[in-house]
Amino acid sequence: MTGNTETIGKNIAEIQNYLNGRAALLAATKTIPADVINLTYDMGIRVIGENRVNELVEKYPLLDKRFDIHFIGRLQRNKVKYIIDKVSLIHSLDSLLLAEEIEKRASRIGKIQDCLVEINLGDEISKGGIPLDKLDAFMDNIKSFSHVRIRGLMGVLPKTEDIQKNIIFFTKITQKFIDIKVGNVDNSIMGNNAMEILSLGMSGDYKEAVECGSNLVRIGEGIFGRRDRQHENV
Ligand SMILES: *Cc1c(COP(=O)(O)O)cnc(C)c1O
Repeated sequence: MTGNTETIGKNIAEIQNYLNGRAALLAATKTIPADVINLTYDMGIRVIGENRVNELVEKYPLLDKRFDIHFIGRLQRNKVKYIIDKVSLIHSLDSLLLAEEIEKRASRIGKIQDCLVEINLGDEISKGGIPLDKLDAFMDNIKSFSHVRIRGLMGVLPKTEDIQKNIIFFTKITQKFIDIKVGNVDNSIMGNNAMEILSLGMSGDYKEAVECGSNLVRIGEGIFGRRDRQHENV
């Protein structure tokens, strides 16, 4: 474990060095045991992201309470109730029905749940998400929700095969993010929502994502090493 811990520390330091304050680092912790995750607090990790509800619920009691926990995976409506009291940001808001469920559950516990709208890449490889050209309508639809607060956008790409494709996508989503942020769109669609967080980039493409404008990168393997693929659902 010591050798491993050393590598994790070195990985985090290298990533932080590259980011140099331009983007925040979220450690994507799927399949990583809580005791290993907890070690990263002293290495500077403050935000972790889980992408399966069951796994988050299992690990939750064992996690260092100082972490800020985000939910980054696909979220089924019937599971919102298990995480609503545990996460500070949901990256994967991708439908009106899910927004309605989050609104209901957050309102029951008196919370305003921060969320990112997950953007669909627009082709067959991308699973969830709102297409960019439907984003304005989506924002308009949820602007009156008083317990769901949109803080920005999130994009997921499959493992990098063609980095140029990822760059094209990052550029498009960043452009939309900026357009909304600076008010190039009808700002009556915004309500109390805001464009502050742009969650783009994973181990294989975080550098390109940051160069394109991401301010939150989600990194798993680049920190913890290669995962056992059997436990993946991305
Ligand atoms: C696993 C995961 C990541 C991190 O992926 P790596 O390739 O391990 O860096 C980022 N975002 C989401 C939504 C994930 O599920």
